[in-house]
Amino acid sequence: MLRYDLHCHSTHSDGLLTPRALVCRSAERGVDVLALTDHDELSGIAEAKQAAGEARIRLVPGVELSVSWRHVTLHVLGLHVDPDCPALCSGLETIRAGRSARARRMGDALAAVGIPGAYEGALRQVTSERLISRTHFARFLVEAGHARSTKDVFQRYLASGKPGHVEHTWASLPQAIGWIDAAGGQAVLAHPGRYPLSPTEMQDLLTEFQAGGGAGIEVQSPSHSATQVLEFARHARRLGLAASSGSDYHGPGEGSVDLGDMPPLPAGLVPIWQDW
Ligand code: AMP
Ligand code: MN
Ligand code: MN
Ligand code: MN
Repeated sequence: MLRYDLHCHSTHSDGLLTPRALVCRSAERGVDVLALTDHDELSGIAEAKQAAGEARIRLVPGVELSVSWRHVTLHVLGLHVDPDCPALCSGLETIRAGRSARARRMGDALAAVGIPGAYEGALRQVTSERLISRTHFARFLVEAGHARSTKDVFQRYLASGKPGHVEHTWASLPQAIGWIDAAGGQAVLAHPGRYPLSPTEMQDLLTEFQAGGGAGIEVQSPSHSATQVLEFARHARRLGLAASSGSDYHGPGEGSVDLGDMPPLPAGLVPIWQDW
């Protein structure tokens, strides 16, 4: 049995390790197949691929796209995408441009509640000039003493409805799936248990996702409780969607699960890697 970890982040988005360091850590921890899935960004893949060749593990080129669907932000993973696909690259460029504009508005919103300089502070946390995320604001706010932990920052300032959160429209679901498809990849709905949707809305989302060409759902994720793992396993079986598994690792000291440490998928599922 090979060990798969199909979701993690490097310094090319909001992770703390370089692509090379992520690959080395994965190899040391017994991962056989690793997908690098930076937010809206493919620029880490070349380095990860080279390091994977040297460490003798298999690197799956991936990405995690930010999507707006109805009132929620969704994340859609693209696995086995061609990182040179023009349609995917230009789509991601558009999403990243939106991130820069949003970050400025977040800075203004935080200034309005008595935290000046947050945009500049977040920029100092950024590890790739191509991408700024809420995580960089969170790290700045902790460092500046406005909160104890990044979890605390999100609860007080950055989560939906909080003073530093600004509304933003990302890519549409058909756009995201279309770009992944153009790049020859498989679209996987990331951590579905995180979305604030009613059972009917979740049903609608899964139906739309599958009808639009979505291949699988991330069943095993640190974002899911044991009950949610079983719930999304049932959805996958019922709809004939494949199942994926990933640690969503962001770096040492962040999150609860290290690279390669997800439990196995529940029984009776078709893993997304079935035909790899
Ligand atoms: P963005 O895509 O810029 O909106 O940032 C989303 C990122 O923020 C996620 O990928 C996580 O890395 C991080 N994040 C979101 N919610 C939380 C939370 N409650 N605690 C810690 N990190 C979070
Ligand atoms: Mn992240
Ligand atoms: Mn995500
Ligand atoms: Mn992620």
